[in-house]
Amino acid sequence: MGNDLLLHICCAPCGGGCVNRPEMINPERKVRLFFSNSNLDSAEEFERRLACVRQLAEFFRLDLIVDPYDHDAWLRAVDGLESAPEGGDRCRKCFEFNLRRTAGEAAGKCAFATTLTVSPRKSSKVLFEIGSQWENFEPIDFKKKNGYLLGTRFAAEQNFYRQNYCGCEFSRRSTDK
Ligand code: SF4
Repeated sequence: MGNDLLLHICCAPCGGGCVNRPEMINPERKVRLFFSNSNLDSAEEFERRLACVRQLAEFFRLDLIVDPYDHDAWLRAVDGLESAPEGGDRCRKCFEFNLRRTAGEAAGKCAFATTLTVSPRKSSKVLFEIGSQWENFEPIDFKKKNGYLLGTRFAAEQNFYRQNYCGCEFSRRSTDK
């Protein structure tokens, strides 16, 4: 298996805090982005976030792979957990869903990691526990070294769309309260 890294990317503001750091800019290691976000509540939201991720990929000259949007499959994965609070069991299933798709893309080719660890609202510990079921998962904690702040600043400079809810319809409901 090669030395490359497949980086699951949830959105451009988080992605900016992950790829825009010295340890990720390594000529010995090719980083490719994997946009896999079937958790998003509509195809419009998927396209809106993807448009900024395309800009980010272009800016950093990174290859981008887009996993087709399949919200029905995601809804089946979180069935029964619709009313769980943000950060609870539904989010664990959601993380696992996206990491599994990333693991599938990376299988036999390279290591993988996720930008989800940059968010202060997402537990890196939980993400690492879930990721540990795949031996090629790299537990990179992008919260370290001010990852979130870096991403926020870069998003403002680039005028990226910054969503005000996590992504699924259930998180929109909790934000709308
Ligand atoms: S709140 Fe965010 S992490 Fe949790 S299930 Fe919804 S989209 Fe996934």
